[in-house]
Amino acid sequence: MDTQDFSELNRHSATSFHEQKQLIKNLLAGRMVLCRHCGQQLQAQLPVAGENSVGYIRCTQGCTDIELEAAVPKR
Ligand SMILES: [Zn+2]
Repeated sequence: MDTQDFSELNRHSATSFHEQKQLIKNLLAGRMVLCRHCGQQLQAQLPVAGENSVGYIRCTQGCTDIELEAAVPKR
């Protein structure tokens, strides 16, 4: 039975997904968000609706580098 391993995995990915959502939410609200690793301000490039572009959240050092391909709901 690997149910415990599964719940560990799910909890971990849920946490990082939640963190990403929180980051995106803050950036969209115009708040300054700092990289949790280096403390530099994060830069956000949002995907453009209808175009095949990929958005990202990055810091200048590159230790935060999140792609936003499917993270932003289409509304
Ligand atoms: Zn950083």
